Amino acid sequence: MSISESLAALRQNIESRNPAEPEFHQAINEVFETLSPMLGKHPEYAEAKLLERICEPERQIIFRVPWVDDAGEVQINRGFRVEFNSALGPYKGGLRFHPSVGLGVVKFLGFEQIFKNALTGLPIGGGKGGSDFDPKGKSDNEIMRFCQSFMTELYRHIGEYTDVPAGDIGVGAREIGFLFGQYKRITNRYESGVLTGKGLAWGGARVRVEATGYGTAYFVQEMLAANDAGLGGRDVIVSGSGNVAIYAIQKVHQLGGRVVACSDSTGYVHDADGIDFKMLRQIKEVERGRISEYAERRGASARYETNGSIWDLPCTVALPCATQNELDAEAARRLIASGVVAVAEGANMPCRPEAVRLFQEAGVLFGPGKAANAGGVATSALEMQQNASRDSWSFEYSEQRLHEIMRNIHTDCFETAAEYGHPRNYVLGANIAGFNRVAEAMLAMGVI
Ligand code: GLU
Repeated sequence: MSISESLAALRQNIESRNPAEPEFHQAINEVFETLSPMLGKHPEYAEAKLLERICEPERQIIFRVPWVDDAGEVQINRGFRVEFNSALGPYKGGLRFHPSVGLGVVKFLGFEQIFKNALTGLPIGGGKGGSDFDPKGKSDNEIMRFCQSFMTELYRHIGEYTDVPAGDIGVGAREIGFLFGQYKRITNRYESGVLTGKGLAWGGARVRVEATGYGTAYFVQEMLAANDAGLGGRDVIVSGSGNVAIYAIQKVHQLGGRVVACSDSTGYVHDADGIDFKMLRQIKEVERGRISEYAERRGASARYETNGSIWDLPCTVALPCATQNELDAEAARRLIASGVVAVAEGANMPCRPEAVRLFQEAGVLFGPGKAANAGGVATSALEMQQNASRDSWSFEYSEQRLHEIMRNIHTDCFETAAEYGHPRNYVLGANIAGFNRVAEAMLAMGVI
């Protein structure tokens, strides 16, 4: 059987053994499409059934999360933790609380996380978890009771050397606080390194809040620089207005670009004067408000739209930072027609496969999430380092480390793509570079 035939057979096998998990299939296919040149060079990987092993999570935990709402009614949600791969370190990856969360979503995120974490060059394996719980509209007390119930089951599966969860969509510092408090109470251990994304006063790391967004901005800056271009003076569009988007906007502005639009699940705002980062952060982070309020408060320069999509607007740099599959082929065509030169994924898998193909065919620089949004988890690994040494680094030093890591990830992807005969194909570069690291570790450890 040729390499591509065996990849197709494996793909089919995975799809039939994991039915009704379209996002997981999509994430697998994206990786498989780029691995052939590497598998040709390393026949020992196929012999050791490495690909088959990597696609099968080491452990999948699904559990009941019962809790009582403010009206006194019992609610039941489903909790997940998929411990995907621990070849490079303890399982590491966020928790997502969103009604769309199911096993397929958690597995797609966990699978991506393996390679993303490998690309950081830091000692972290890959995992992901979450719940179909919807934090929207819930009181602080309801959030706390849910988090406590979630941790009452999860605590037995995690630990500083085992599995280290963090935040993702719907899980920020507030939720990590409730989760950490319950873990500490159940175990009677102040085990700082069991969760990342903690508050600064109780073991958190500087720059962790900003890290994913900052990292995405650094990555796009590197992509442009490697291709004799810059970010200065460019109109940039950032979708979303959550943690990733907010800090991508701040860093793009600091690097000389101008973000003219951002969005939430109900619409988008275009601001001809450039998004006011401080106002946006105040509304979204402090007041937990909507993007429509930004438009109201900002006045004449801002326009709020509920029809169409943020990708209808022209720009030369696009940073999708909202959620998976938010940017489809039609949006990609419009962006290409409007003159986009670079796209980097701040969210996980926000571009549909057809959109990625169109960008690549049009010569648009495309940075996949595994590489472009790795700054968050990389800074989580720095938080683990600080916890292990009971230390706390300055903002400047932490940011310098993040910047250096993003530069290295870019170089790694860029050089790997060139080495395998596909210059500027960052998808191929990221997948091969990440896969290689995990594969070599697994080979060394025997059949595990
Ligand atoms: N949820 C983030 C991601 O997608 C961060 C995970 C972490 O810090 O462990 O990479």
